[in-house]
Amino acid sequence: MTEPDDWRLLNDVEYLRGIWMEPTDAADLRKYKPELKHCIFCWKQVPEPKPFWQQWYVPQDKSCAVCEECYNDFCTAFGWKTTDGWDTWDAWEYGNKGVNHNE
Ligand SMILES: [Zn+2]
Repeated sequence: MTEPDDWRLLNDVEYLRGIWMEPTDAADLRKYKPELKHCIFCWKQVPEPKPFWQQWYVPQDKSCAVCEECYNDFCTAFGWKTTDGWDTWDAWEYGNKGVNHNE
């Protein structure tokens, strides 16, 4: 459970209310968005994918990363809806390629 004055809410997270979240893991997060190095809530570092696998979440615009613990703590408070995760990065890659299709 979370408190209204949870220190993690001091970060700039208000824009994350009521959005879709997509599950991913530390390996894909490092592969596709290496600039996302921390959980936006608790500032925990995105770990090396080995030796262990770790669940993470990203919003559909991939603007930040959320660790599993914070996802669970804030899911209800922020009203997150969550995708099945199958195309978390497929759509992202397609979108990136689509930008340059006129070249
Ligand atoms: Zn966190």
